[in-house]
Amino acid sequence: ASFGFTDVPLAEKQGLVDDVFHKVAERYDVMNDVMSGGLHRVWKDAMIARLAPPRTSRKPFRVLDMAGGTGDIAFRIVERSEGNARVTVSDINGSMLGVGRTRAEKRGLLANLEFVEANAEELPFESGSFDAYTIAFGIRNVPRIEKALAEAYRVLRPGGRFLCLEFSAVDVPVLDRIYDAWSFRVIPPMGRLIAGDAEPYQYLVESIRKFPTQERFADMIRRAGFSKVDYTNMTGGIAALHSGWKI
Ligand code: SAM
Repeated sequence: ASFGFTDVPLAEKQGLVDDVFHKVAERYDVMNDVMSGGLHRVWKDAMIARLAPPRTSRKPFRVLDMAGGTGDIAFRIVERSEGNARVTVSDINGSMLGVGRTRAEKRGLLANLEFVEANAEELPFESGSFDAYTIAFGIRNVPRIEKALAEAYRVLRPGGRFLCLEFSAVDVPVLDRIYDAWSFRVIPPMGRLIAGDAEPYQYLVESIRKFPTQERFADMIRRAGFSKVDYTNMTGGIAALHSGWKI
C-alpha cells in the first residue's frame, strides 16, 4: 500500500517530513513507547552502551546528536558519562527541540546540552569539532542521505566515532510476518486512535520500507569515508546499529 509519500520528489520530501514531526512533537514520546512496545528504550540503551562515553577525560566528550528530536539519546549520553559529555542536540524541527528542551529542564540536564536547529545535510558546525556523532531513527527522514553522511564525516575529529540507529530489514522468518502485520495493520489505526491522525504513522511505516538494507547502508557509510564500518542487528533486524570511525 502507498499513502502518497513513496513517490514524492526529493525536493518535497523534507517539507512533508517536517509537517509530520510538527504534528506529533507533543505526543512523540508516548507514541514511541506504544508503537514499539517499549523496545526503542532497549535499542537506545544498547546504542549508548556501544558509544560508552568516557566518565572522565581531559576535555569534555563532545557529541553531536543529530536529528536528536526530544532528546532521548542526548539525555542518556549525559547521564551515562556522569556529566562528562557535552551534547549538541540538533534537529531541523523546532517543535521537537522545544519539547526536548522542556524535558531537559525537568531532568536538570540543561547545563550539559545545547539545542541547535539545523539540517543534517548542511551543518553549521566547524570541521573536526566532535568526538562522536549519533543519529537515532533520524537518517531515513533525510532526503539526501549521502549529504548527511558527508557532513557527519566532516564535523567529526580524526578518531571520532559515527553511530547510527535505524529501523532496518527483518531477517528472521515468522518475525518478518508478524512485523509486517504490526506495521501495516496495527500502527496506522493506532496512530489515529491515540494521536488523532493516521497519516504520520503511515509515513513512518513507508519510510522504513524504503530505507536501504543493513549491507547497503554500511556501504554508503564506507563511501562517505568511514573506516571499520560494521553493524549489529537488534530484535531480529527490526532495528540495526551501524558504527564507523573517521581515521
Ligand atoms: N533521535 C530521536 C529519537 O530517537 O527519539 C528523534 C527521532 S525522530 C523519529 C526523527 C527526527 O528527525 C525528527 O525530530 C525530525 O525532525 C528529524 N529530521 C528529519 N529530517 C531532518 C533533517 N534533514 N535534518 C535534521 N533532522 C531531521
